Amino acid sequence: MSALVAGTRQVSAGPELQVDLDAVAANTRRFVRTARGEVMAVVKADGFGHGLAAVTATALANGATWIGVTSIAEAVAVRESGVDAPVLSWLNRVDADVSAAWRHGIDLSVPSLEHLAAIEHPGRPVRVHLQLDTGMARDGAAPDTWLALMAAARRAEVAGRVRVVGVMGHLARADEPGNPANAGGRQAMLRGVEMARQAGLRPSVRHLAATSATLTDPGTHLDLVRIGAGLVGIDPSGTTRLCPALRLTAPVVQVRRVTAGTGVGYGHTHVTERATTLALLPVGYADGLRRAVSGRAEVLLAGRRRPVVGMVSMDQAVVDVGDDPVVPGVEAVVFGPGDDGEPTVDDWARWAGTIAHEIVTGIGPRVGRCVR
Ligand SMILES: *Cc1c(COP(=O)(O)O)cnc(C)c1O
Repeated sequence: MSALVAGTRQVSAGPELQVDLDAVAANTRRFVRTARGEVMAVVKADGFGHGLAAVTATALANGATWIGVTSIAEAVAVRESGVDAPVLSWLNRVDADVSAAWRHGIDLSVPSLEHLAAIEHPGRPVRVHLQLDTGMARDGAAPDTWLALMAAARRAEVAGRVRVVGVMGHLARADEPGNPANAGGRQAMLRGVEMARQAGLRPSVRHLAATSATLTDPGTHLDLVRIGAGLVGIDPSGTTRLCPALRLTAPVVQVRRVTAGTGVGYGHTHVTERATTLALLPVGYADGLRRAVSGRAEVLLAGRRRPVVGMVSMDQAVVDVGDDPVVPGVEAVVFGPGDDGEPTVDDWARWAGTIAHEIVTGIGPRVGRCVR
């Protein structure tokens, strides 16, 4: 990595994303301490943009006992990083590569009769989790299909094709503690578990809660909680202070003095009101700075919050530093934990009209990564 010199500080040549694994460790321990059941680390989407292998290893070293991902390919990547813990994959096509899952000892969710019928392997039974739609109309089996699904799962179990180790549901509105939809989802889950028992199944791992429900509603914990956002410091329920794990920086690459009335960037959406200094950052919407933040966002630069002015471009953004003597090479903090006054991921989410999850999973591939 080449470096520009800013005072005595070495900064990277381009934008850099620093991942703080101590924060992931602290968050993991918090969930392990407070969950009534075991903790599954959900590391889909490259560990919520924090790095699949790094988040997986950190979570397991700090008390998580399961790993959860969407695709079989991600699950295989987890196994190949040397993980022995149970790994569950829950979003696959009917014709997904079941033999890869079987070879790597990966648990599969079963969201439909068609998925169940396609799970066949000439060897020990495939471990499956019946995935029930407990009130989202998204993934999982619709309630009017549960009875047939459970009867078929029992037949497949008797035939030695599968072993039903789990039943899983998911809550649509867990980030609104006390919303009646949550009690409804929990009741649906328990009804599904009871139905499975009556079909002769003996699932030992019932799981419903993700981050929000785990933080706000112990009645949803059951045997296992699935934690994704919370591991990386995001609390969608807004009830708990977790440890944010990302810091995004970019060096100033150019500085220019402009007069009052200067139009800045595409469309001249910002026009300077007085003579000022503009600093250029080599980071844009291809790197995860959402264009929608234009006119609202700030960065921490030379000790103060400064406005990002004009439209965020694909590769660059302009910051107004007033009359301060900012020089090329100085590092701007786009977001971080907030301890030094820098904006947080939550700030960027608010400016962009979205949620923190979308910001952390949206950092582009050309941003340098640094895991510590
Ligand atoms: C992503 C996901 C999770 C993790 O949710 P968080 O709120 O990020 O903890 C849990 N369960 C399912 C089914 C998911 O898709």
